[in-house]
Amino acid sequence: MSKDIFEKIRDRYYDTDVVPPKINNVPCPDCGADKLVRDIAKLAYCAGCGRDMRDVVAEAIRVHAALQDQIKESNKKRSDAFYNDAIEAAGIAKHPLKDYLWGLAWDQGHASGFEEIVNYLLEYTDALPSTCEGW
Ligand SMILES: [Zn+2]
Repeated sequence: MSKDIFEKIRDRYYDTDVVPPKINNVPCPDCGADKLVRDIAKLAYCAGCGRDMRDVVAEAIRVHAALQDQIKESNKKRSDAFYNDAIEAAGIAKHPLKDYLWGLAWDQGHASGFEEIVNYLLEYTDALPSTCEGW
């Protein structure tokens, strides 16, 4: 038996990670100084030893961009999982208004967290007429 959506919320299963901001400085591999001097030609030198830092900065930017992509992808998976689990918990996976109800529940509840979104979705679903089968 899998965990119910409220247990998963309490276990922080759907929590997303913060994407780190763009990098400004990288430590010099030669002297360890973490200040760069940039000149008018956009060249970067270590403020400590004068090393040309272009290759180090380029590699740091590449690694950082890859990390950002990885976090964004992981966050997307978690937010898709939350949507799917909430829709399933509400029993409206095949309902034609599921995305409309999801939007309403999101608007009302997201400022108070995942649990409130689900509570609103369950409340709105309860108000649906139960004349259709196979939602
Ligand atoms: Zn240096």
